[in-house]
Amino acid sequence: MGFDILIKNGRIVDGTGNPWFKADLGIKDGKIVKIGRIQKNEAEYIINAKNLVVAPGFIDMHSHDELIFFKDTLNKPKLSQGVTTVVTGNCGLSVAPVNEETLDILKSYTGILGEDVEFAWRSYKEFLKNLEGINGIGTNFVGLIGHGTLRIAVMGMEARDPTKEELEEMKRLLAQSMEEGAFGMSTGLIYPPGVYSKTEELIELSKVVAQYGGFYASHMRDEGDRVVEAVREAIRIGREAGVPVEISHHKTAGKRNWGRSKETLKLIEEARDEGIDVTVDAYPYTAGSTYLASLLPPWAHEGGEEKLKERCRDPETRLEMKKFIEEKEDWQNFIKEAGWENIVVTYSPNFPEIVGKNLGEISKLWNKDPFDALFDILSEDGTRADMIIFMMNEEDIERILSKPFTMIGTDGLDTGEGNPHPRTYGTFPRVLRFYVREKKVITLEDAIRKMTSLPAQKLGLKDRGLLREGFWADIVIFDPKTIRDKATYDNPRATPEGIEYVIVNGVVSVEKGELTGEKGGKVLRRL
Ligand SMILES: [Zn+2]
Repeated sequence: MGFDILIKNGRIVDGTGNPWFKADLGIKDGKIVKIGRIQKNEAEYIINAKNLVVAPGFIDMHSHDELIFFKDTLNKPKLSQGVTTVVTGNCGLSVAPVNEETLDILKSYTGILGEDVEFAWRSYKEFLKNLEGINGIGTNFVGLIGHGTLRIAVMGMEARDPTKEELEEMKRLLAQSMEEGAFGMSTGLIYPPGVYSKTEELIELSKVVAQYGGFYASHMRDEGDRVVEAVREAIRIGREAGVPVEISHHKTAGKRNWGRSKETLKLIEEARDEGIDVTVDAYPYTAGSTYLASLLPPWAHEGGEEKLKERCRDPETRLEMKKFIEEKEDWQNFIKEAGWENIVVTYSPNFPEIVGKNLGEISKLWNKDPFDALFDILSEDGTRADMIIFMMNEEDIERILSKPFTMIGTDGLDTGEGNPHPRTYGTFPRVLRFYVREKKVITLEDAIRKMTSLPAQKLGLKDRGLLREGFWADIVIFDPKTIRDKATYDNPRATPEGIEYVIVNGVVSVEKGELTGEKGGKVLRRL
């Protein structure tokens, strides 16, 4: 039997967490057809993988890549680090379903995902069709439905509970989207409109997700001072809705919360003992990133983008916002937790000269109170400006990464504007270099498991995430001695080293460390 691709002499790390073994691997028609000793060299394409690791392609459990494919069809930042499947629609943000009447609000809400993409779809099904209408995509695509998107479709950016009818409509849209192939629902509970919702609303919606066998992913209500309460809320949703839970980009942010991952992880372990399927994902960096306007009080977003800009211009509202930020404790207050010096502007369409500077520096540069500097930026940029916040500590990251239920997600995207977070280009090789090879916090085999079979299990993907005969040939081949991330905060778009080949559904997409330009990705639907 001839193979399309034959990978010879590699160290197979199959994704189960078992120790590597030596074998050859044959691929035909996009699938793995043989793993073992293959004597004959009958293949169109032969890879000598001597001294290299052959592993399942990485699954980026936490991405925001849904609009990227319309500009960068290969999804270069992910493909070049060995990612063969991205999970999109996280943090409450998805680009479908769309209600014509609130499309402008949705576009502003999803602006962080990339601009200038025409929303030529309304239902989730139509969105997936549009994605398939692109002339090929570089990685496989998995989508979640954002709770914020559902809320906007039904009630715009209103800071209140949904009426009974509105909740029913959200449930209907969610059920329809699940039938059309979504894998679950995500929330972004620090972001408007997610921040306006109560736990009961999320439980009701999650029951719909549970009916379809999906899961609930949450950017929790607080990752700082109230992180323990936030984990409790996520667990309660899992318990009362009977839905598997994924805690997104788990962290304990802000110096005064360092070390509290001991408490959060203990709660998760207790929930798992109780029978609630809670897992987490994490990225291996001490800085987070989001849009700059999330420094504002949640109420400042009410009514949408233009209202937000008006509030930032109005002297009296400025005083109210300042007072709220200085005094109120019961919200994700990044300024209080991280401090001005640790908040770096990474994108500003109207003030490109401040990119790379922290808010302390900008305040000095402009000779203004930091609050006024911030409000000045946001009066013009609205929700367009982005930031990186240095707010985590290394021990928490290690503690979180070393738990068996932790998988890897980049939370990164590069819209081409400003400076992206280096996690966009470096997450997976950074785990393999820093936490596996240098710090030895996790073994190579366990790291691969966290990047492959564990997310596949959570997603219900039955033919990906492991190297098995009959599975899709999503494969990454790398040198365990040299693999390394090169992206830094100053040079965030540097692609990694040591990744020799990436194969997506049997299509060689990276060859000898270079992108081939071939696109093997598929849009996946949950069945
Ligand atoms: Zn998030």
